[in-house]
Amino acid sequence: MPFGNTHNEMKLKFTSEQEYPDLSKHNNHMAKVLTPAMYEGLRSKQTPSGFTLDDVIQTGIDNPGHPFIMTVGCVAGDEETYEVFKELLDPVIEDRHGGYKPSDKHKTDLNPDNLKVTASLALSLSDVSEPCWPGATQKLNPALLHPPLLKGGDDLDPNYVLSSRVRTGRSVRGFCLPPHCSRGERRAVEKLSIEALASLSGDLNGKYYALKNMTDAEQQQLIDDHFLFDKPVSPLLLASGMGRDWPDARGIWHNDNKTFLVWVNEEDHLRVISMQKGGNMKEVFNRFCTGLTKIETLFKERGHAFMWNEHLGYVLTCPSNLGTGLRAGVHVKLPNMSKHAKFEDVLKRLRLQKRGTGGVDTAAVGGVFDISNADRLGFSEVELVQMMVDGIKLLIEMEKKLEKGQSIDDLIPAQK
Ligand code: ADP
Ligand code: MG
Repeated sequence: MPFGNTHNEMKLKFTSEQEYPDLSKHNNHMAKVLTPAMYEGLRSKQTPSGFTLDDVIQTGIDNPGHPFIMTVGCVAGDEETYEVFKELLDPVIEDRHGGYKPSDKHKTDLNPDNLKVTASLALSLSDVSEPCWPGATQKLNPALLHPPLLKGGDDLDPNYVLSSRVRTGRSVRGFCLPPHCSRGERRAVEKLSIEALASLSGDLNGKYYALKNMTDAEQQQLIDDHFLFDKPVSPLLLASGMGRDWPDARGIWHNDNKTFLVWVNEEDHLRVISMQKGGNMKEVFNRFCTGLTKIETLFKERGHAFMWNEHLGYVLTCPSNLGTGLRAGVHVKLPNMSKHAKFEDVLKRLRLQKRGTGGVDTAAVGGVFDISNADRLGFSEVELVQMMVDGIKLLIEMEKKLEKGQSIDDLIPAQK
């Protein structure tokens, strides 16, 4: 971040009140939680690498709200940020992650065989009183289930689902995170990643492309094809300090057919992505789990574990991504459903989130949305993918009914 500790000490010449940010027009989790007393108590602290309270909250000050999602409004600069500033970050995490308490423990499950068979919702909902996503308690009639071969989300209707994707982030222990890392650290993370990823083979054999060696046209093509992160235009990214030195030490590694990709030094040290066209989420998740597990081993073999603890799961830059860091989503056509008065409410009940198809800062075009799990923490990877698959199936059932001019009242999920 632009401000070092000397600057932080200089600020202590002013009273806490004189330094307190103007949050009067703000709607993000940080602004909801931060109080003048909390600011006063935390403002002289810093992590071992020198990340301060103002560094944590700057992005939330500069971005009062976001048109499509409720943002967190703060970032971590290193692994210790979550401990040193827990008075602020614990309630933010609790708020963002559905009541997740400081004493709660996170669970990891990267075994795709644990994805459940999903009932055909059209049948199950007319025959049973409650739908079949996590939290629901009804017993499903096995006769209503798809054959076991179709287990676990390999059957999302491709007439509606254009593409399927699962991503997560990983942070390499011992380096500061992107809002705070130095150029040298960032380059070391890149070098380590290139070496580790070069060992992947078979289906996962691929190549690293540094941003600075790409032409503008090559870069834009990868962005337009949804493979690459956008240039640092997002105010969320810029205000947190993640765009410093762009494009130095940033790049993308991908396998030959671009179904398994790793972003290096964007918002997290690593973003690991599995994606393909159509609705076979099971295949996407299988590849995701296999590749990710291999990558973790390759980094460990080089003496670098990923940041992880029992409470927070995988430690990432944005508190919204803690835990699994997993966002499983589809680009899905919902021209009718998205105009329905209950669309937002249904998404919320299904614990899903919507974005435009060009990424987090874009609006939907032509009724096509990026719909993904809203949770990251407190649920395992398998549970989150399951929730997404079940929710998407229901949304497609609703879309089909609306196409025929029928009511969807009987399909609205009961749980809040
Ligand atoms: P995240 O940061 O969670 O990975 P963003 O919203 O920033 O996601 O989007 C990053 C890129 O990934 C964008 O180009 C977006 O279009 C693409 N993307 C996200 N979900 C899908 C999907 N299901 N299918 C195809 N592309 C996707
Ligand atoms: Mg992003």
